[in-house]
Order: sequence, then structure tokens, then C-alpha cells
Amino acid sequence: MYFSPYLMSLRNKIFICRSDITKIAVDAIVNAANSSLLGGGGVDGAIHRAAGRKLLEECKEIGGCNTGDAKITHSYNISQIKAIIHTVGPNIHSKVTERDEKLLTNCYWNSLQLAKKNKLSSIAFPCISTGIYSYPNDSAANVAMRTVKRWLETNDNASKMRAIVFVIFTEVDYKIYRKTLPKVFPSS
Ligand code: ADP
Repeated sequence: MYFSPYLMSLRNKIFICRSDITKIAVDAIVNAANSSLLGGGGVDGAIHRAAGRKLLEECKEIGGCNTGDAKITHSYNISQIKAIIHTVGPNIHSKVTERDEKLLTNCYWNSLQLAKKNKLSSIAFPCISTGIYSYPNDSAANVAMRTVKRWLETNDNASKMRAIVFVIFTEVDYKIYRKTLPKVFPSS
């Protein structure tokens, strides 16, 4: 099999780890928020608890975020990171539509664009939309990795991005991500 040096170099920037995202040391962590940005359950609740009340105050000033968009805030009491990027994934009520897939793609893409704009060189993503918002885990992992790969292919030279970490919270997602990684980055 031919191992493309180009794909290998992109693959070297991707990491999977099983952890609580509030404990990760990267420049920015991504929050799977809701459109009010006023906090919620799941990873959103964990990030707000760890960052403290000042995060809520800043989020109130931002005034919300549309599905698929991303907004950046300070990190407050999460002292090992520089910023929090809040994005809102699609909420799946029955079957995933093309629009849902596009919106989930936008979450990853717009978060990476915001990181690039702010000269952040490492970013950690949770499995956006796969908790309370019920996006099927397998398809969500595919969207996450394919979008990150496409973003790296088009932005790698122009950005300072050194590490993109998928922070996995559940055993189910951990298995899926380890299976998906070599499919999306076949040179690994
Ligand atoms: P959504 O509303 O976008 O579905 P959730 O927070 O309910 O957001 O779930 C998104 C993902 O975040 C799920 O895979 C869930 O297991 C995971 N998760 C929950 N808490 C944490 C945490 N502290 N760190 C990382 N991931 C988390």
C-alpha cells in the first residue's frame, strides 16, 4: 500500500483521547452549546461549571448563536486553555436530513475557522450533537473527521494548527472513533 506523505502529515495532527474535555490542555476547547448560549446539560454544563459564572456573563453579552455557527469566549477558571469556542449542533428529532448533516459540518468547520482567526494552534472537540441532540454516533463521527480532514487540506498551510483532538466521553464513541480514523486517514 502507498502511504502518501501528505496525508500522513495531516494524520499526525489528529488525536483521539478518552477524557473530560474540561481537563484537556489545548489552546481552545469546543463547547456543544445550545442556541441561547446560557448553559445546559452534558458537556455544556461541565464547561460552565468548570469555567465559572463569568463565562455565563460573557455568553449573555454575546446574545446567542445560530445552529452551525461558532462564537469565542475567554476560558476563565479553565486555566490551562486560552479560549472556549461555542458551537450549536443540530437537534435530531427523527431522521437525520441533509440539512442536519450540513449544519453539523458547519459546527466543525466554523470552529476551526474561528481558531485560525484567533491564531490558536490546538483545539479539542467533543462529539457534537451526539448526546441530548441525538445525532447517530456513527454518522456524527464520520462528519467530524471528514470535515476536519477537508479543513486541514484547505487550511493547513495558512493556519498554525498543530493538533486537533477528539475528546471522547463514552465507550461507544471511543470504539467508533478508533474505527473511523483509519478509514478517513487511510495512510495511518
Ligand atoms: P449535544 O446537545 O450537542 O448532543 P451533549 O453535551 O448532550 O451535547 O453531548 C455531546 C457529547 O459530549 C456526548 O458525546 C457526550 O457524551 C459528551 N460529553 C458529555 N460531557 C462531556 C465532558 N465533560 N467532556 C467531553 N465530552 C462530554
